Amino acid sequence: MSLADDIALIGCEIDLKYPMSKYTSLRVGGLADALVTPNNLDEFKKLLDLLARSGEPWVVLGAGSNTVVYDTGIEGTVVSTRKLKNIEIAGGDKVFAETGAVLGTILNRTIKAGLGGFEFAAGIPGTVGGGIFMNAGANGGEIKDVLETVWVWLGGEEIAIDGKDLKFEYRKSYLPEGSVITRAKFGLRPEDPVEIERSVKEYMDKRNRTQPIKMSNTGSIFKNPPEIPAGKLLDELGFKGLSIGGAKFSEMHANFIVNAGCASAGDVLGLIEKAKKEALEKRGITLETEVRVIGKDNA
Ligand SMILES: Cc1cc2nc3c(=O)[nH]c(=O)nc-3n(C[C@H](O)[C@H](O)[C@H](O)COP(=O)(O)OP(=O)(O)OC[C@H]3O[C@@H](n4cnc5c(N)ncnc54)[C@H](O)[C@@H]3O)c2cc1C
Repeated sequence: MSLADDIALIGCEIDLKYPMSKYTSLRVGGLADALVTPNNLDEFKKLLDLLARSGEPWVVLGAGSNTVVYDTGIEGTVVSTRKLKNIEIAGGDKVFAETGAVLGTILNRTIKAGLGGFEFAAGIPGTVGGGIFMNAGANGGEIKDVLETVWVWLGGEEIAIDGKDLKFEYRKSYLPEGSVITRAKFGLRPEDPVEIERSVKEYMDKRNRTQPIKMSNTGSIFKNPPEIPAGKLLDELGFKGLSIGGAKFSEMHANFIVNAGCASAGDVLGLIEKAKKEALEKRGITLETEVRVIGKDNA
């Protein structure tokens, strides 16, 4: 039996030769050999066991909002967590969420429940898994601030890790090598829903004014270097509006690349390389990408 047959036996959905431009928020990228979507956590864990034993390449993605896939696609299996999205509020101030739960949906639930602390997530289109992996944050907060426990699949079993025992940095987590996040528990605090909504509205208004949210993009391209915010640096270097093919540094915010509709990953990566080179040559600053680039690099 083939790997695809074994996967089908578990019950997961399989899409062969799946165009990753349909999956990622930047809408670029070639074909994945297979996109596999488990329907529940049980299928997810069985699938991870099977893939680990198979020796074939695989990668887990949440919403694909921080990921650029090469035009040559992805060899092996992309595991999508998008159906693993249960959220439960328990014990008054705890939120339990599966790995594919969208951060904005959690925020909406917590506002209704009168729980504060998740406002950092306003406007971040990622999932619990991608958010913890990236230590997503904005508006003065990061996911690590509210993370009490993360459960990961590691070496064939699900283990719980206390948030306090994990090291996080700016847009970086240090989970044990090979971990896949399955679910998480967040600790929040009772707060007036009207006040929470007021802060969230303020954050969203600022995003709408300063970020190109109406066009396909993948959030900040570069981490802010210690010397200067990446957007300010790129603006000063004249990158606003600079394009290659269908990809362009946004005129609204120079740390965003937008897709005019026909961009390739090659166009996007061309812009990234150009910005890195000029930042180093003209200002002596090393830019590090925040966005993750995955797949077959045949360049
Ligand atoms: C319009 C826009 C605005 C944004 N604003 C912000 C912002 O303000 N702050 C911010 O921090 N980010 C921002 N982002 C970037 C992005 O939304 C975050 O990084 C988010 O946390 C990524 O989540 P995801 O589910 O989309 O991750 P994906 O892109 O699917 O994956 C990102 C990485 O996480 C890994 N991963 C995903 N799920 C798991 C899992 N279950 N276990 C282990 N690893 C996993 C993937 O393998 C990959 O390496 C923005 C993006 C967009 C498009």
